[in-house]
Amino acid sequence: MEVQRVGVVLRSFQPETEVTVRGWIRTKRELKEFAFVEVNDGSSMANLQVIFDRNYPDYENVLKQLNTGVAVEISGTIAESPAKGQRIELRASDVKVYGEVEADTYPLQKKRHSFEFLRSIAHLRSRTNTLGAVFRVRNACSAAIHQFFQERGFLWVHTPILTANDCEGAGELFTVTNLDLNNLPRNEDGSVNFEEDFFGKRASLTVSGQLEAEAMALAFTNVYTFGPTFRAENSNTSRHLSEFWMVEPEMAFCDLQGDMDLAEEFLKYVFQAVLERCPEDMEFFNKRIDSTVLDTARHIIDSEFERIPYNKAIEILQKSDRKFEYPVEWGADLQSEHERYLTEEVFGKPVIVTDYPRDIKAFYMRQNDDGQTVAALDVLAPKIGEIIGGAQREERLDMLEKRIQEMGLNQDDLWWYLDLRRYGTVPHAGFGLGFERLIQYMTGMGNIRDVIPFPRTPENIEF
Ligand code: ATP
Ligand code: MN
Repeated sequence: MEVQRVGVVLRSFQPETEVTVRGWIRTKRELKEFAFVEVNDGSSMANLQVIFDRNYPDYENVLKQLNTGVAVEISGTIAESPAKGQRIELRASDVKVYGEVEADTYPLQKKRHSFEFLRSIAHLRSRTNTLGAVFRVRNACSAAIHQFFQERGFLWVHTPILTANDCEGAGELFTVTNLDLNNLPRNEDGSVNFEEDFFGKRASLTVSGQLEAEAMALAFTNVYTFGPTFRAENSNTSRHLSEFWMVEPEMAFCDLQGDMDLAEEFLKYVFQAVLERCPEDMEFFNKRIDSTVLDTARHIIDSEFERIPYNKAIEILQKSDRKFEYPVEWGADLQSEHERYLTEEVFGKPVIVTDYPRDIKAFYMRQNDDGQTVAALDVLAPKIGEIIGGAQREERLDMLEKRIQEMGLNQDDLWWYLDLRRYGTVPHAGFGLGFERLIQYMTGMGNIRDVIPFPRTPENIEF
């Protein structure tokens, strides 16, 4: 008999059909005449309820084995279910036990566990309802992201993870070395001599694929990266990981307007796709995690994002009678509390803030004619704050060189990036979206550690 996925059986199989499923037992309930066993194989939120009749051969001994966590293959006949909330159930005719579990030793017993506890058993937590739903949504969202870009002719490009660029100039980098740490080669001034290191210079894990994506956009017009990035920032917050995934489109012949349009269209598309592909999981989040999740998603899809320049944002914040922890003044970056105030309380929807003071933004952002601001954009979302950061890039060689000098960056390291402005430069723009922040936003999950299977954060690299 062909093995079927539980989710497919639950959705579309009719009574009287014979079927085999495989999975892990979630619960067992023994009654007088029969026993219920719920099986889940990760393909859906709902379990398949399996009935073992008293007449099942060697009933007592078989049931004794079917503890929570046990891996099984079960064959039987689909029947209409008399129980509320489920269409069908499976009447077992045969069961094969794969991996057993000693009674009462399984860490995931039926009671509710805290997310904190579940993080300590990250190798097992994906077998719970919540984490199962998160990772199905994560998958659907990844697929939707590729679909969005592929439908629009964007090329998926793979930018390096090992790099010698510090793209943001401000990034906190993880150094990658194979020097003998107990016997480091030193320069005369005592600093480590990275010329002796594997790459002949100091290398690190990338904080962004943007600079290389720009090079690719200037060949393929529209490209995107979707891969892991790394930040050694010691910010133990519910929104920061040391390893996270970033989506970075980059478009040639595009300005800030086009960049904003893409960001908005992109967010709408992926929300819509996830609502369509994971309705059961999204219902679950709405019911159990955050009762605004579905409204928020519909709101994103239906509402036009607010677009305001930084100047206006500062004005609104200064006029408000809200007491902020961090002062609001022109020239300072918006803090999370400011971002949330704008998006949650002032506008009640996503807000795109543009044209930030140049001194708080990266060297590659295009300078505006006012000499003070750059063509940057941040998309701010309720509850999360910044979810997307992007910009039109400085395509003018002289302006870029000047900025690199002003900011004290090393022009020699950026020779190839400057070449892009020498050979066929065009206006171009792009953005970076923190994938886990997006998943947090979609699911309402409060902690970013619970939307990536094996989170890496300061002092935590287990699993
Ligand atoms: P924040 O101010 O929240 O630390 P950032 O200004 O450092 O963000 P960018 O450098 O613009 O962020 O990175 C692009 C996107 O990557 C951000 O908009 C955010 O969604 C995401 N991001 C940044 N840092 C992290 C992190 N440590 N963990 C997860 N996502 C992150
Ligand atoms: Mn940061």
